[in-house]
Amino acid sequence: MRTYLKGARRKVEADTPDVQIAVAKILEDIEQGGNSAALAYAAKFDKFSGQTLVSREEIERASRSLSQELKDDIHFAHDNVRRFAELQKTTVQDFETEILPGFITGQKSIPVDCAGCYVPGGRYSHISSAIMTVTTAKVAGCRKITACSPPHSTEGMPPAIIYAAHVCGADQILAMGGVQGVAAMTFGLFGLPKANILVGPGNQFVAEAKRQLFGRVGIDMVAGPTDSLILADETADAHLVATDLVSQAEHGYNSPVWLVTNSLELAKKVLTAVPDLIAALPDLNRVNAEAAWRDYAEVVLCSTREEMAATSDEYAPEHLTVQAEDLDWWLSRLTAYGSLFLGEETTVSYGDKAAGTNHVLPTSRAAHYTGGLSVHKFMKIVTWQRTSREGSKAVARATSRLSRLEGMEGHARAADARLAKYFPTETSD
Ligand code: NAD
Repeated sequence: MRTYLKGARRKVEADTPDVQIAVAKILEDIEQGGNSAALAYAAKFDKFSGQTLVSREEIERASRSLSQELKDDIHFAHDNVRRFAELQKTTVQDFETEILPGFITGQKSIPVDCAGCYVPGGRYSHISSAIMTVTTAKVAGCRKITACSPPHSTEGMPPAIIYAAHVCGADQILAMGGVQGVAAMTFGLFGLPKANILVGPGNQFVAEAKRQLFGRVGIDMVAGPTDSLILADETADAHLVATDLVSQAEHGYNSPVWLVTNSLELAKKVLTAVPDLIAALPDLNRVNAEAAWRDYAEVVLCSTREEMAATSDEYAPEHLTVQAEDLDWWLSRLTAYGSLFLGEETTVSYGDKAAGTNHVLPTSRAAHYTGGLSVHKFMKIVTWQRTSREGSKAVARATSRLSRLEGMEGHARAADARLAKYFPTETSD
């Protein structure tokens, strides 16, 4: 039986009508007003009026301004994400098969031509989001890749994001965030190619813009606030569990973190440790984590590990950590998560920044139906067919009959015309 030792005061809400209306208005204004409307919104929301398209000189300046250590770290993370994505790509296989004698059907994958990668930058500088999105689009084979991120009012875009987007393969970098950044990539403003797919995390305005544009463009997912769940048994280190919960609560005031355990002793230790760890964070992080912990966090006590697993599957967290015995059992048992972190030796931060697995992941229980960003999101799995005249006979007859039954006479006649042309002496039944 489940007991809530700490319940959430609030549930993460879907976008409010206010956000939907505001975003629809911004998109409409920018579609009609083009560059000048986008620039006006950039000035309004980000107080930015500098150069929007990042120039080659700015990329070089950004590179010169960064320490070698930071550049090495960016290259390290890029290399891991690239190699992981390259392996993912090998799992998308083209094939052809003779499905009937003389009738060949096949599958091939074609990369989306133009990817628009959103790199969030309001609260934190998400250098890693540039690495996760741009690298994966590049490995998938997108011919044109644009990255955009909010500029800071006086300094413009953070040099580390410019550098990361460039080394990972962005062809164009746009210093513009929020709805206006998403709109610029979709409508092809500032000389950009029009994006065929928009990917990347962002706040509620970015997510709502992607949702409203879906259909005109593809999107990876509609992401809500980051959420994380830790499954821990009595063998877990309470300090590490608490530290990991706090590390994810700092994402934002509404980022839920959940502990699911079968150990009352561990739960009590974690409940004591978390507020102290939060209090020791720098200001912005502390304010986010305090609110997230107070309003959205839950600590759930279960009787058995099977009940813990079932609880986790129900929550379908974006990030799922297991700090418990028998990691292989958990790996085979758990079925709903964006990314899984097995054992105390690893942590969500590794996946968020540098380990190679992607950090753009399904939130708000979307892990019930999708995984995170991968090369597959940038690849169109298409099919083809070709047949000999003899090979078409059986399919033409079945097609003709099925079409008539559906009332689709035109379809039936397309099949009949083949039978009449290739087999004029045979009557169709
Ligand atoms: P952001 O870049 O998503 O949003 C900043 C932009 O919001 C600004 O450029 C501004 O134009 C726009 N904006 C702000 N107020 C507005 C308003 N009132 N009306 C219209 N537009 C407005 O950065 P953020 O706000 O820091 O949010 C980043 C989000 O991304 C967080 O929720 C974070 O948790 C999430 N994130 C998720 C992942 C993941 O993989 N799941 C990774 C990194 C970040």
